[in-house]
Amino acid sequence: MSNPSASHRPSPEGTSPSAFLKGLKCRECGRLYDLAAIHVCDFCFGPLEVDYDYEAIRRVLTRDAIQKGPNSLWRYKHLLPVVNEPTIGLHAGMTPLLKADRLGKALGLKRLYIKNDTVNHPTLSFKDRVVAVAINRARELGFKTVACASTGNLANSVSAHAASAGMNCFVFIPHDLEAGKILGNLIYKPTVVAVKGNYDDVNRLCSEIGAEYPWAFVNINIRPYYAEGSKSMAFETAEQLGWRIPDQVVVPIASGSLLTKIWKGFQEFSSLGIVDAHPGLKVNGAQASGCSPVYQAFMAGRTQFVPVKPKTIAKSLAIGNPADGYYSLDVVGKSHGQVEAATDPEIVEGMVLLAETEGVFAETAGGVTVACLRKLAKKGAIRPDDLTVAYITGNGLKTMEALTGYLPEPVGIDPTLASFRKIVNPS
Ligand SMILES: *Cc1c(COP(=O)(O)O)cnc(C)c1O
Ligand SMILES: [Zn+2]
Repeated sequence: MSNPSASHRPSPEGTSPSAFLKGLKCRECGRLYDLAAIHVCDFCFGPLEVDYDYEAIRRVLTRDAIQKGPNSLWRYKHLLPVVNEPTIGLHAGMTPLLKADRLGKALGLKRLYIKNDTVNHPTLSFKDRVVAVAINRARELGFKTVACASTGNLANSVSAHAASAGMNCFVFIPHDLEAGKILGNLIYKPTVVAVKGNYDDVNRLCSEIGAEYPWAFVNINIRPYYAEGSKSMAFETAEQLGWRIPDQVVVPIASGSLLTKIWKGFQEFSSLGIVDAHPGLKVNGAQASGCSPVYQAFMAGRTQFVPVKPKTIAKSLAIGNPADGYYSLDVVGKSHGQVEAATDPEIVEGMVLLAETEGVFAETAGGVTVACLRKLAKKGAIRPDDLTVAYITGNGLKTMEALTGYLPEPVGIDPTLASFRKIVNPS
C-alpha cells in the first residue's frame, strides 16, 4: 500500500487495520491506501472510501449478534470504520421508525414510514451518526483538535462531541445561519468561525486551513470514515422493518453523501445475507429548488451536475457544489429512482403537514423531504402500496425563523372563565 500524502498523521498507532478493515480504496482507479487521515487519491484525484474484509465480517455478523449489541448505531460496528471499541458518541442512532398513517393518508400512501432523526442524540440531527464515527476515528489517529466546514448541524454535532471528548474544536459556518444553529455551537465552547460567504466558500477555505494545521476536519481529511456513519440509517431501517429493504426511500441531498451511503448500507446488508436482496429498491433524492444542482442534472438527463449559488430557507441543504453529487445521480439512476425539488413555500407546507399529521417537528430539510415525497406520490413515481421510508434528518427547533408569519398567533384571554368563554368559545 502506498500513502505518499499522509502529511497530517500525528500518530501511527491508529493506522493498523482492524480485523475487518482493509484500507482506503480510490473509488475511481481502485488504488489502495493506509487507513490514514486522507480523502483524495494522489493519482487520479478520486475520493477514497473505506475497504472492508467482507468475508471476515460475514463469519461474525448475524441478526442475532446485531440484536445483542448496544441500542445505538454501534450495534453495526463491524461495518463502521473504527479499529478500537468506541469511547465517544455512544448513544447516536437507533432513532424511531414511525409508521406514518396520517401523513400517508394525506399523500395517498398506505405503507409510509418516517425515520425520525429529529431526536438523534446528542444534537437532534442525523449528523450525530457521522460525527460519532468520525470523532472516534480522529482520536484513534492521534488528533487532539477536530474541525469541520458546516451548513449548521454538522458544526453542532462536532462541537458537542468534542466537548464530551475534551478535544479542541474549531467549527466553520456561513455567517448567515439560523440563530438556533449558531447558539447550538456556542454553548459547547468551541471556536466558532463565521465566514462571510456561503458553504462552498467555507468548504474551500477549510481545505486550505487543513493543509496548514494538523487538525481532523471531519468532513474533509476524515471524510472517508465520517461518511460511513450514514450507512447506519439504512441498517436501522432494515432492522426496524423486520429485516427487510423497503421499495422506496426519499432522502434529502446536501453533499449527497447520505443518499449514497443509504444505498451502500442496504447493499452491504443484502450481500452479507442479513436481509434478502431487493433489486426493486428505488432511491429518490430531495432538494430545495433554491439549491438544486442534482435535481437539475437529473431533469436534464445528465450524469454530472453544474454547481449553483444557493438561495433557500433549507440552509442545512445549501451546498451548491455537492461533493457526492455525481455519485448521487449514479445511485438514483441505477436504482430507477427520481430527484424532486421543493420551493420555499412548499418546504414550510411540508414542515407543517408533517407536524399536524404525525406530531413531528422537523427543520427545513424535513420540509424538503416531505414536499418532495408528496410530489413523487402525486405523479405516481411512488405508488400507494409501495413500502416507503422518508428520512427526516433534523429538528425544527433549530430553524424556527423559517416559520415566521406562517403560523397563527396564540389566542390571548384574561385569566377569567368569562373571558375564556367569550373569546375561545369552544363548541
Ligand atoms: C447534512 C444534512 C443532510 C444531508 O447531508 P449530506 O451532505 O447529503 O450527507 C440532510 N439533512 C440535514 C438536516 C443535514 O444537516
Ligand atoms: Zn484513484
